[in-house]
Amino acid sequence: MSASPCLVLEGIHKHWGDFRALDGIDLTIARGEFVCFLGPSGCGKTTLLRIIAGLETQSAGRLVQEGRDISRLPPVERDYGIVFQSYALFPNLTIGENVAYGLVNGGGSRQAIARRVDELLDRVGLSGSEAKYPAQMSGGQQQRVALARALATSPGLLLLDEPLSALDAIVRVRLRNEIRALQRQLGVTTIMVTHDQEEALSVADRIVVMNGGRIEQVGTPLEIYREPATPFVADFVGKCNRLEAVAEGGGWYRSGQLRLPARASTEPAAGTPVTLYLRPEDRRLEGLDGLDPATPGLCQGRVDAVEFLGGNCLASVRVDGLPEGSAPLLLQFSLNQMDEFGVQAGRTLRFALRTDRLRVFERAEGQAA
Ligand code: ATP
Repeated sequence: MSASPCLVLEGIHKHWGDFRALDGIDLTIARGEFVCFLGPSGCGKTTLLRIIAGLETQSAGRLVQEGRDISRLPPVERDYGIVFQSYALFPNLTIGENVAYGLVNGGGSRQAIARRVDELLDRVGLSGSEAKYPAQMSGGQQQRVALARALATSPGLLLLDEPLSALDAIVRVRLRNEIRALQRQLGVTTIMVTHDQEEALSVADRIVVMNGGRIEQVGTPLEIYREPATPFVADFVGKCNRLEAVAEGGGWYRSGQLRLPARASTEPAAGTPVTLYLRPEDRRLEGLDGLDPATPGLCQGRVDAVEFLGGNCLASVRVDGLPEGSAPLLLQFSLNQMDEFGVQAGRTLRFALRTDRLRVFERAEGQAA
């Protein structure tokens, strides 16, 4: 990481009785980064955000923000703005008063505060709304106000706790793009909690994938998607096909009658049961004519069904030669490919798996892929 750290978390644990909500979190966030905490319900992402905000106390561990140990500081002495899922605006205050809330004790003149409120509302696209009340605004507008309020004191850290979950799909996508654009303009280090992988992939510089109170992987969206470090990450982020296979040594794996080459970070010994993971888009239809039928990854299968997804379709294909009882492979095609190559239920399709994209994970004996 090139930029200097804004926030360092060292060995953060959180227990409630015997229950371990967080089990040793180490993480460094660079200044100006947009980081998403992503994980299923109950993985501890909100607890971690609340510990960073000082709204929850860690059972063990240390937090350092801009070189200052904040581990025991109360929320008011920390340097952040926060936005919650539920907007949390004061219903009896106007929009202008809501945004000015954190500024009134800052010693600025009334005119200076009014100017700052104007500027912030302008930034979130709500100029001229000062005199309205929260109840007069839509959910998306209220969340913009909450964002303006969180940014009012120019905090060193912006914390966003599932800020988009209560909004409908179109507003959610629009607002996440606006938040990302605003974050870039301001350069404010931002942490957003989300359980929505698409949201995390689209806005984050880095994603922290959490599971059961631990970090599974930290990486850029592309790293997380292309090079999932664990089966959990491969399954949680995006769709993945799983092929039950056995290592043959020398970088080769056998799945039923298919022999496939794949790169593994640590090569499993011959005979080790593995699961090969493959994304639906990691297949090829073009340039297969004239290929030696023994070319690794060259397959054919019967299309069971085709799911239409807008610009793409997802075909479930029963691949010849895979182990007995294997699930059909889900393969993604563009609509043009669908027309050109006749991707239709009942047809037989010839294609090549992109073996360079296969991910290999060892599997305990007897465990299903
Ligand atoms: P969600 O997306 O559902 O909010 P999350 O990943 O944000 O999930 P947390 O809210 O951080 O999860 O909760 C982590 C775990 O800690 C959960 O199992 C939750 O039930 C538990 N937990 C949270 N707060 C408390 C509390 N005050 N007392 C006991 N257990 C708690």
